Amino acid sequence: MAGRIPEQFIEELIARVDIVDVIDSFVPLRKGGRDYVACCPFHNEKSPSFTVSREKQFFHCFGCGAHGTAIGFLMDYDHMDFVEAVHELASRAGMQVPVDQGRQATTALSLDLYQLLGDVAQFYRRQLKEHPQSQRVIEYLKQRGLSGGTAGDYGIGFAPPGWDTLSQVFAPSQGGGASKTLTKGLIDAGLLIEKSLADGGQGRSYDRFRDRVMFPIRDTRGRVIGFGGRVLGDDSPKYLNSPETAVFHKGRELYGLYEARKSNRKLDRLLVVEGYMDVVMLAEHNIRYAVATLGTATTAEHLERMFRQVPEVVFCFDGDRAGREAAWRALENALPVIGQGRQARFMFLPDGEDPDSLVRQEQQNGFEKRMANAVPLSTFFFDALAERVDLQSIDGYARLVEMARPLLVKMQTGVFKQEIISRLAERTSMTAQDLMRELAGGTGAGHARHQPQVRRSTKANQPSLVRIAITLLLHYPALAQQAGELPLLRELDRPGVGLLVELLELLAERPHLTGAALLERWRDREEGRYLSQLAMQEVLLEGQEGAGREFIAALGKLRDLAKARRLEVLRAKSQSTAGLTDDEKSELKQLHGGV
Ligand SMILES: [Zn+2]
Repeated sequence: MAGRIPEQFIEELIARVDIVDVIDSFVPLRKGGRDYVACCPFHNEKSPSFTVSREKQFFHCFGCGAHGTAIGFLMDYDHMDFVEAVHELASRAGMQVPVDQGRQATTALSLDLYQLLGDVAQFYRRQLKEHPQSQRVIEYLKQRGLSGGTAGDYGIGFAPPGWDTLSQVFAPSQGGGASKTLTKGLIDAGLLIEKSLADGGQGRSYDRFRDRVMFPIRDTRGRVIGFGGRVLGDDSPKYLNSPETAVFHKGRELYGLYEARKSNRKLDRLLVVEGYMDVVMLAEHNIRYAVATLGTATTAEHLERMFRQVPEVVFCFDGDRAGREAAWRALENALPVIGQGRQARFMFLPDGEDPDSLVRQEQQNGFEKRMANAVPLSTFFFDALAERVDLQSIDGYARLVEMARPLLVKMQTGVFKQEIISRLAERTSMTAQDLMRELAGGTGAGHARHQPQVRRSTKANQPSLVRIAITLLLHYPALAQQAGELPLLRELDRPGVGLLVELLELLAERPHLTGAALLERWRDREEGRYLSQLAMQEVLLEGQEGAGREFIAALGKLRDLAKARRLEVLRAKSQSTAGLTDDEKSELKQLHGGV
């Protein structure tokens, strides 16, 4: 996700904004020693343990462990996603966010796309009032029971019949044909379809949405990024969405999320339904927290987005077979993101009903009562698995464990996973320990054997040399200049050495990176979490000078270890039949001199 915005821009941004100003605008800070402090906005407390460091450009709470950069703060505090947080900071700093060229749009063009899409949305809305054929649409909406107010909240419009409505209005002809630049804009926005050569000529295009009720899809900032269109009659497809464009990504966007947040900034749950009409009709009945994916299954990215806003997501599916299969896919995607403070539940509708028909019969109260009875993820998990195996048969339990294994592997370690494991143990009449052993064994045996070793290597509870060096680098990135030669270090077979060398190489190339910029670089990588843990540790040393001495000492020791290791290898080789090459002989001589 971070890939869409160039890393260099993130670095510049992190260097330009001051985290103290950013946080202070949400949570008033006061000076406390070298840093700034406040009562933590992420947990309840009476005395301040939330600390913001201007020097490091990090925040950290000693109470609940929340921590991060200015970008991370906006994501956590204001429920923004990464891209939104970057845009927010950039606008504060007066910087323009560049758009990745890989997506074929230049900055200028994609800025225009938002404008263009917004204008087209307005045009469609006007057509709903003014077009000679709009009466049919209004009748249709009225008959569904939709009020003008809700239609207005969701910006519902009408795309008139005809193949060149948009070209005529938005790319009017100049002499010969339609304006080329404007036509291209409409194509890039997904509003026109370009005819291929085979279809009778390049350079010709026609309206994608014709004679449809139009639902503008807005991003969380309220900008129109695409459309969904529903037919009035029996044409197919019944629903048509904008294609992927520079500004519209289906796997990421949720219809109705902007409107839900707008109606209530402090949402405590979201309801995921299938279509735009469901979202809008639920809103009509005062359930203003429904969202819909756009013709795709719920992705992990969707879920990550939703859980950033609310602690609970309720999925609403048809009760039929297709509905249960879709629910199972949603569950599989939910497992990796679910955990502490994040709950998912599943609600299945009676046969033949959809949210629209049900809320019309039962009103808000009845519908919400059903929602209150939605089954928790763990229950659905076991019910669905149990449906697939015969628990009466001898190997039924083994099959159950076998099927649960890959799913459990996806989950974060924590209370929730523990709960699932103990429930699985209950069902299979095993003890939790036996079950854990069973889960760790089987096909994943190699993996399981590997893990304890890693943990034991740091059992002395003393920070390793590698860890010390990395921690110091995060606090004083300029120390990288004193690191000296790297090739030998790379030879060292110790946990974290690869990461250390990577940091040193990066800092050699880009010496002005701050610790916060380093954390942002590693945001999407697995080591990122480890780095932020080290970054928030207090370094009890006298400023950069003391840190420098410690750093050089740590690297010196690592280099000695690497030399000793290399010597061993060369000596062994010199005694073998292969013998040493000339290069290796001189290397050996040199190493002898050094140790
Ligand atoms: Zn806290």
